[in-house]
Amino acid sequence: MSEVYNIPQEMTITKDESYPRIEINLDKLSHNTKMALNICRRNKIDLAVVTKVFCSMPDMVKIILEAGVSIIGDSRVENLKRIKGLSCEKLLLRLPSISQAEEVVRYADISLNSEMDTLKALSKAAVKANKVHKIILMIDLGDLREGIWPGEVINTSKEVIGLPNIEFLGIGTNLTCYGGIIPDDNNLGKLVDIKKDIEEKLGIKLKVVSGGNSSSLYKVLNKTMVDGITNLRLGESVVLGRETAYGKDIPGMFKDIFTFKGEIIELKEKPSMPIGNIGMDAFGEIPTFEDKGIMKRAIISVGRQDVRIDGLTPRDKTIEILGGSSDHLLLNLTNCKGNYKVGDVVEFDVDYGALLSLMTSEYINKYIV
Ligand SMILES: *Cc1c(COP(=O)(O)O)cnc(C)c1O
Repeated sequence: MSEVYNIPQEMTITKDESYPRIEINLDKLSHNTKMALNICRRNKIDLAVVTKVFCSMPDMVKIILEAGVSIIGDSRVENLKRIKGLSCEKLLLRLPSISQAEEVVRYADISLNSEMDTLKALSKAAVKANKVHKIILMIDLGDLREGIWPGEVINTSKEVIGLPNIEFLGIGTNLTCYGGIIPDDNNLGKLVDIKKDIEEKLGIKLKVVSGGNSSSLYKVLNKTMVDGITNLRLGESVVLGRETAYGKDIPGMFKDIFTFKGEIIELKEKPSMPIGNIGMDAFGEIPTFEDKGIMKRAIISVGRQDVRIDGLTPRDKTIEILGGSSDHLLLNLTNCKGNYKVGDVVEFDVDYGALLSLMTSEYINKYIV
């Protein structure tokens, strides 16, 4: 089977000092990981840290493992392959594709599943590789992304039990991803009930009830987590220090593990209104402008090819983002106290979408501080 992947296999830190770059503070990452681990442990919950937003960069995964985490989750086999040498349990979050079954068995110890045909393919691949592959059956509790319907669970479970070289580890759910459904006593309670039902009807024991992602964390923080949830899969809450059901900051966690830094390549006084007849911009949209007189405008060498611009927030609150094209980001520095010049660096906070795009872009230096 071919193993050609487009993403560079060795995704590591650069020694390159140039901009644009995303700076990663490993001490802060370690701190947030330890906090998440303590919050979960106090509530008897196993933590899988989700590393997909930074493509499972080995330098960062190592820090998470040193902080005491033993399960790493990622949505892409390519990313799990990148950390194949690190000792931890590797959990594949996105449903496996049948065409990747052999890679899944090779690089993931556990996968989340909802399709019988895929499970059969994984079983076949596991037999061939002489391995046991663990699976968690995903149940759709109303968010309408992945998962089987609760009414199909018993029949599906029966089939899973019969598959050679597949270990039926448990069940799980994913909420607040597509439908925006918030985890609560009702839906998580149902998940625990389904687990008990499987155990009673089929006479087996399930080790894992995986109760969701960072949107389930608020239940743990409020000490209202449903009894019987044994695992959470946390990404955003660990890397950005906020829960995602209500978007609240998690007390004591860093929100600035990541800093995006861009360099000014032009700085000039220009009008705020374009001159001439307005047609379409570079993305086929018809832009509108407000006349704010002459502005001090800066161009940063980063664009929509590299970053979700809406997810950037300048740390200097007097800077305003005007917009961007594929390779350029335009800033309004008119109200800045600081005396910026060409070659200076502007710092930004990143949200999840901006971080995802920056870490994935090969044009952005990944820089450890
Ligand atoms: C991305 C993902 C997670 C982690 O989500 P966060 O909101 O970043 O905590 C958990 N489970 C699955 C299935 C995912 O795809």
